[in-house]
Amino acid sequence: MSEAPTIDEKTFCELHPDRETSLRCNKCGRYMCPDCAVPTPVGYRCKQCVRQHEDKFFNASQNDYIIIFAVCAVLSAIAFGITSRIGIPILLMVFIAIPVGTGISELALRSVQRRRGRQSAWVGIGGVVVGALLGIIGMIVLTTGIFPPLDILMRILVADFRTIVFAALIGYFVYNRFKMRM
Ligand SMILES: [Zn+2]
Ligand SMILES: [Zn+2]
Repeated sequence: MSEAPTIDEKTFCELHPDRETSLRCNKCGRYMCPDCAVPTPVGYRCKQCVRQHEDKFFNASQNDYIIIFAVCAVLSAIAFGITSRIGIPILLMVFIAIPVGTGISELALRSVQRRRGRQSAWVGIGGVVVGALLGIIGMIVLTTGIFPPLDILMRILVADFRTIVFAALIGYFVYNRFKMRM
């Protein structure tokens, strides 16, 4: 006769020995309470296994962050410089943001051989924002020959709602591209 587990056998969370649980990590098999369990696309896992999986996934170096920032900043400076020069209606701006955002995020990802880090998405967004400002300021300097005073620059940025929408959309694409697990 094979040994069947007894029904009244109690199991407890490995980190919280006072909490009774029957939930197990589907990777390493340890018992865990609902507080310790992390829902993942492949089922409940313990925090250690999730962390281990992420460490394998996040393989970016410090240099990668610099490259991502630079690529996003340069490309969005060009994109914002051009679009700020031409009076594009806001609806058209939204449509333009799709290929521009996809292009910038794809190039940024390729420039680091598709390596990602925990902060890659935010670094990319930082690059887009800085690049957008530089592009707009650069275009003002190019066309007027003067560097805009800060208060005037702020007024231009706030008044031009299209720029904010454009930046938000491109930031959204960059964020998603770096968060996507493929
Ligand atoms: Zn585990
Ligand atoms: Zn626990």
